[in-house]
Amino acid sequence: MAKDKSVFSPIGAWKYLTKKPVTIPKTLVFDTPREASDNYRGFHINDWDKCVGCGTCAEICPTNAINMIEIPTLEQSKGNKPERPAIDYGRCSFCALCVDICTSDSLSMSKEYIHLSKDADTFYFLPEIDGIHEIEYKDGYVRDEVSELLDLERYKMDEIKHDGRAESFMEIIKGYSKEMAIAEASRCVECGICTFTCPAHMNIPEYIKSVWTENMEEGIDYLYKTNPLSNVCGRVCTHTCESACVIGNRGKPVAIRWLKRYIIDNTPKEDFERVVLSNVSEKINGKVGIIGGGPAGLSCAYYLRTLGYEVDIYEEKPLLGGAVRYGVPEYRLPEESVKEDVEMIRKMGVNFIVNTKVGRDISFDEIKNTHDAVFSGTGNWIPKKLRVKNVDHPDIRFAAKFLQESRDYSRNLGEMPEFEDDLIVIGGGDVSFDVARSLLRLQTIKNGKTNIKFIARKPSQFLACDPEEFEEGTEEGLKFHLDRSPVEILIDDNNKIYGVKVARCTSVMTESGKAKTTCTDETEEIYAKEVFMSVGSDPDFEYFTDEIIDNLEISRNKIKVKEDGQVEGYPWLFAGGDITRGPDIITAVADGHKAAMGIDEYLYNKAKNKN
Ligand SMILES: Cc1cc2nc3c(=O)[nH]c(=O)nc-3n(C[C@H](O)[C@H](O)[C@H](O)COP(=O)(O)OP(=O)(O)OC[C@H]3O[C@@H](n4cnc5c(N)ncnc54)[C@H](O)[C@@H]3O)c2cc1C
Ligand code: SF4
Ligand code: SF4
Repeated sequence: MAKDKSVFSPIGAWKYLTKKPVTIPKTLVFDTPREASDNYRGFHINDWDKCVGCGTCAEICPTNAINMIEIPTLEQSKGNKPERPAIDYGRCSFCALCVDICTSDSLSMSKEYIHLSKDADTFYFLPEIDGIHEIEYKDGYVRDEVSELLDLERYKMDEIKHDGRAESFMEIIKGYSKEMAIAEASRCVECGICTFTCPAHMNIPEYIKSVWTENMEEGIDYLYKTNPLSNVCGRVCTHTCESACVIGNRGKPVAIRWLKRYIIDNTPKEDFERVVLSNVSEKINGKVGIIGGGPAGLSCAYYLRTLGYEVDIYEEKPLLGGAVRYGVPEYRLPEESVKEDVEMIRKMGVNFIVNTKVGRDISFDEIKNTHDAVFSGTGNWIPKKLRVKNVDHPDIRFAAKFLQESRDYSRNLGEMPEFEDDLIVIGGGDVSFDVARSLLRLQTIKNGKTNIKFIARKPSQFLACDPEEFEEGTEEGLKFHLDRSPVEILIDDNNKIYGVKVARCTSVMTESGKAKTTCTDETEEIYAKEVFMSVGSDPDFEYFTDEIIDNLEISRNKIKVKEDGQVEGYPWLFAGGDITRGPDIITAVADGHKAAMGIDEYLYNKAKNKN
């Protein structure tokens, strides 16, 4: 039981009146400060070379002590915003959540804890690597495994295993379940850094959020506002955005592409149509002719319809979609996905004039004379040839034509293409893997076995393809002859191809990170009955009038255009996609969008000047 205190006890404190005060003098604290304990939460340090300006520290701060400040000397670049966090020590509670969540590991706390100033503004500062007083201090608080706030591992998507995969053109990737999609979406910190890197500047954090709020309609709205080929891109986009995702700084980037696909796969068709078609405007503004129904042309048409223009697309082939419909194989992109996006654009009221090659079935002048403006997006369809002996042999097969035949076969619109049972594919890029892996499937379906030799000039780590292509091609049975450069197509006395002579090469990484390949005089012969060549393709500009061809500024087979796709000297003519820059679907989509805005501006100004 506590003993009751005497009423005189406070008087005992009077004894201190005669004692020397024990206040530690200021000079002592500043000259020889006591070292803080390990893991002390002192002032912040931020390594600006590592910091990416994502603002996640500011988002998590429970006392709103962090503001992101734009730094004029920094430039916006892939995966990096020109902003850095400033900390208000009037508010900071030193909880260190900002350090725990920092996506780049740039933010930490030092053991420095003293700051004395009459100037209140000095308590709000922008930490850099040397802290608040630009003095070297020992590390304080460091995040450990237990306090990790980010989910660094990606939720894997199921796929058909390689056993039996090459027996059909069935899509390999299966798609996320609801639980997995929500878990993957919740890894996103909503910084928006990826948006800058996406050529179409898609609303990425916004549509990812709609996955975990389970609002698919909102997701569709975000997707189709910036990308009319979202269904296609949800499957085969080159997903450069993921290489900028801040979660990738310490872990695996968020699966942005697969989350896009999840929204599309899980939205009922009627909701999908209602949301997308609500963007269509009445046709009142004028008429635009589009040459080429690939991603660039389709995207331009889509945005022009949202702006109230009447649009005609002239397309050489029976189906719209360009290289997406006549190149990318079905095991990567099912027919239904392209069809849905293309059909939506048709339902918006775009007029498709198919089986019509401009320059052959209709003249360029006729299109110009019957429309207020013209957009050209005709892609690259003339196969490139290697400069090797006998390259003009008529039996050599090229990627574009073969992939078209193979795709028509897989969508039941054509016969199985002819091919031998012993083949060589020459290439190294993604398209050559499309050729080789389509041939693997065709051989398996026809013969139950495969025999395909894949020749490339570089070793696997330097091939110009997605590493998954090499991995999956190996699993499916491609036989690689790497570090080999073709020098001659071998032809026998009966003028029949019997293989390829190659030189042995070696490749090294240069200082700039590129591969430098040197070939020797040492050669060998690789035998097969047929050769497929897939080493790129060029555009065909013959459909333009002679006058325009003479005036086009063409560099490395690309037409030079203004930022919005307008062709210099021809204000009514716009171009985009592979004929202006490439190299992928999303860039063509972005070009089509920019050109639609450019056409709108041109026609608006023209009408204004008339009145
Ligand atoms: C096999 C293959 C696989 C690919 N895989 C991918 C991938 O996985 N991911 C990715 O992002 N990109 C991929 N690409 C690249 C991508 O498909 C292209 O960058 C994109 O399609 C370019 O769009 P575009 O509209 O500029 O041209 P295209 O898609 O080539 O479309 C041009 C259209 O114009 C038509 N046309 C041409 N001349 C005329 C004429 N005179 N009159 C009327 N019509 C004409 C053509 O028939 C075609 O339909 C791949 C390309 C190929 C070839
Ligand atoms: S979380 Fe890290 S990387 Fe992002 S702004 Fe803050 S300090 Fe920089
Ligand atoms: S996907 Fe990555 S980069 Fe994009 S908003 Fe989310 S966390 Fe940021």
